[in-house]
Amino acid sequence: MSISPILRRQTRQVRIGHVMVGSDWPVLVQSMTNTDTADAAATAAQVFELARAGSEVVRITVNSPEAAAAVAQIRQRLDDMGCDVPLVGDFHFNGDRLLKDYPDCAHALAKYRINPGNVGKGARGDEKFAFMVRTAAELGKAVRIGVNWGSLDQTLANRLMDENARREAPWPADAVMREALVVSALESAAKAVELGLSPDQIILSCKVSHVQDLIAVYRDLASRCDYPLHLGLTEAGMGSKGIVASSAALAVLLQEGIGDTVRISLTPQPGESRTREVIVGQELLQTMGLRSFTPLVTACPGCGRTTSTVFQELADSIQTYLREQMPVWRLQYPGVESMQVAVMGCVVNGPGESKLADIGISLPGTGEVPVAPVYVDGERAVTLKGERIAEEFKALVDDYVTSRYGEGGAKRREAAPRVIPIRTA
Ligand code: SF4
Repeated sequence: MSISPILRRQTRQVRIGHVMVGSDWPVLVQSMTNTDTADAAATAAQVFELARAGSEVVRITVNSPEAAAAVAQIRQRLDDMGCDVPLVGDFHFNGDRLLKDYPDCAHALAKYRINPGNVGKGARGDEKFAFMVRTAAELGKAVRIGVNWGSLDQTLANRLMDENARREAPWPADAVMREALVVSALESAAKAVELGLSPDQIILSCKVSHVQDLIAVYRDLASRCDYPLHLGLTEAGMGSKGIVASSAALAVLLQEGIGDTVRISLTPQPGESRTREVIVGQELLQTMGLRSFTPLVTACPGCGRTTSTVFQELADSIQTYLREQMPVWRLQYPGVESMQVAVMGCVVNGPGESKLADIGISLPGTGEVPVAPVYVDGERAVTLKGERIAEEFKALVDDYVTSRYGEGGAKRREAAPRVIPIRTA
């Protein structure tokens, strides 16, 4: 039985700096800094680190005059480092004031994120929203209207609760809250269009913290508009819980073609690099077959047949090595991001998996002859033995990359243009 390709939901196409978002364009991986934006050096360094790891759009908090004053410097520092990743400003109650008082900030950002629940109430809130939207329209910036379960517009929520109470068969309270999220995003988008923002500048998100709620909300939102959607489970949590919950929710939606940008909102361990969320986002898209970012290592889980940790260490060090090479390999060896590498623990499944990979090694299991056959393009190419199997295998991987993806290599693929041209209607 053949596998049906994932059909993306058809949406408008939105430009964020030099990248495009929407159904014709690849699903992008986003991330967000956790530095104090007022510290331009630290924030630029973290944005650079995230972009180098593969984040294609990076959001920064713009919450104070000091933060707004630093944004243009951050942009300049990144440009000086040769990093063109688009920056998104995360605005809340004082966004209008900051955009007004710091025009360099307004210019340096490629997109503004506005949370309708955090702009302010009543006429004053409307004025602030209008100012931010008009600034975006005037400067040609994208806007993400990002609704969040934890900061839902209470006036709207109360209105929908009242309407629900008048229904013949009222909905459960959680269904009304999900409806309120979707309505908040759609009504804010309609208001932004009335204020002069082009629909082709709008991206929507409705983040919640439970998997089933997120799936229900986005299915509904996707069916009621043609804006590109940013996916993310908010407050996903730490470690494996955050990864599993985000992957479970986003995979269902992506499989249905819903979602144009993704962020995996992981809470890092103290001192842990922020890049983990980028790697998880990439691995989610790559394992689903939506995109390729980095050669992935297929490794067996190990069992009683292999009591040493040699193959686990090799699998880990090869995956780390491949990821570290990608910033350079991406440019020198187009197509290498799809390469498959196998590291297997014994002869039971080892040779079979290794043959399916572009290059694979089958290490000796317990009681097996201490040799490690290497398979290249499905054929047994060489057998390694001795203490230096790991180093020799890494060298073979390097040779494979150079010969197959270098100039004239059989697996070289023309890279997508780094700078995506502006499309005109
Ligand atoms: S390949 Fe060998 S070591 Fe790995 S899980 Fe299978 S039987 Fe165990």
